[in-house]
Amino acid sequence: MTAFDLEVDVAVAGGGACGMMTALRLAQDPDLVVAVFEKSTREGCNAAISSGSLAAGGTRFQVAAGIDDLPQQHADDILAASGDEEWRPVVEALCRVAPTMVEWIADSGYPIEIGSDMPRAGMSVPRLHTDTGRRGGGRLVKHLRGLLAGLPNVAFVDEAPVQGLLLDGNRVVGVEVRQNGSTQRVGADRVVLATDGFAQDPILMKEHLGHLGEPHNGGVATATGDALAWVLPIGAQLRNMGAALRSGLVVVGHGTRVSPALPFNGAVLVNDDGDRFVDEEAHGYSSMAGILQQLPGERATMVWDATAMAATRESEMMRDCLDSGAISDAASLTDLARGLRVTVPVARAALEPVPGRRRLEAPFHLARVTHGVLATQGGVVIDLRGRVLDARDRPIPGLYAGGGTACGLAGPSSDGYSSGNGLLSAFGMGWIIAEDIRASL
Ligand SMILES: Cc1cc2nc3c(=O)[nH]c(=O)nc-3n(C[C@H](O)[C@H](O)[C@H](O)COP(=O)(O)OP(=O)(O)OC[C@H]3O[C@@H](n4cnc5c(N)ncnc54)[C@H](O)[C@@H]3O)c2cc1C
Repeated sequence: MTAFDLEVDVAVAGGGACGMMTALRLAQDPDLVVAVFEKSTREGCNAAISSGSLAAGGTRFQVAAGIDDLPQQHADDILAASGDEEWRPVVEALCRVAPTMVEWIADSGYPIEIGSDMPRAGMSVPRLHTDTGRRGGGRLVKHLRGLLAGLPNVAFVDEAPVQGLLLDGNRVVGVEVRQNGSTQRVGADRVVLATDGFAQDPILMKEHLGHLGEPHNGGVATATGDALAWVLPIGAQLRNMGAALRSGLVVVGHGTRVSPALPFNGAVLVNDDGDRFVDEEAHGYSSMAGILQQLPGERATMVWDATAMAATRESEMMRDCLDSGAISDAASLTDLARGLRVTVPVARAALEPVPGRRRLEAPFHLARVTHGVLATQGGVVIDLRGRVLDARDRPIPGLYAGGGTACGLAGPSSDGYSSGNGLLSAFGMGWIIAEDIRASL
């Protein structure tokens, strides 16, 4: 081994959700020196463009709202959607830390409330936590980066992409980082991969997710699957590579998304013939993407009314839609029929509510929606401590992974994605990894 240019206790590749949480929690130990190498905050992380909805079961916010929930119930909901029983131990480990983690974020000065008005398919009770004011993930990332900046034992190095791992035999002993036109060899006792998935790499997408067709791509440019090229040569296992976080709520021509809560407030989906084709409440937005993909033109129109609008308009998604002019209005049934390009009787039939659901009333709102991919869900196999495993289920010494770099919680298919899974596996595994490293160093 040649000498290092720099040595730290822990090197974190990627300064998004997982990388930030890992560093924040590691830094609680003042004797640890941590460096976070970030490809580009200018290009951004998916956490920053996310809705910032944090799924956790059993928080004090739920208790205060009279919502009965537990980590086990959360895990069971996730597994009922994914069917991925083999991944149960990881799901349960993440759900166990989720309430403490969400409360810790709140106690760090971030204004959190329970999204009682954010129902989601497959979620047995309201468990998405959000910022008061509903400004989404950008606000959360800014807050966490602010916390990091105040820590004397963490260096957050921007515009410094990690390019590879440094090895001593089969042990990972550091990372190679590109900065200011030169390459630095950074030695570290532990390396954490938090570089997210591969949704922006066309070759990997074609190989693993070609069945998604040519979806709108709603994620950040930095998710190019860099870590895969580093871990495959050292024998890491990959899992569920054919699953993604998809959205069937992407507004055509705008790229914004309408709120997943709309169907729970009576919104209906119609195809180009003006016919309903799906139980709108029965599918999460990821599974709805697959249904839209099967339609002619891969598009549908979502229709809702003023009551549904009032219930959802404070979300950052609806604000984005309204600001960008992605939503059309129809004052009457006749206008709606014109907007849908169908006859009035067809439009009237489309609005017929299924038993037990509310009837939409004029004036109406409508948006043409299609399917998109937001982030990939397949990745490296990790154990309950976040350690990367090889093909024989042995930890690769010195190496951890979390968030979109690791296998996610959706199971083998995008249909199994539950709302909140993404940040749960990123923040949650960052939390777990930090605890493990602190206990082992
Ligand atoms: C539009 C949208 C909405 C979403 N909404 C939600 C939601 O409300 N709730 C939820 O739970 N999930 C949501 N998700 C999913 C969630 O954002 C991701 O699952 C989560 O951000 C993944 O965390 P991460 O730390 O793995 O990746 P990221 O947050 O993307 O961070 C990865 C970081 O690694 C950096 N990086 C990449 N390669 C390198 C390299 N070679 N060297 C150094 N750094 C590198 C990137 O620049 C980036 O900063 C949403 C996703 C999208 C796209």
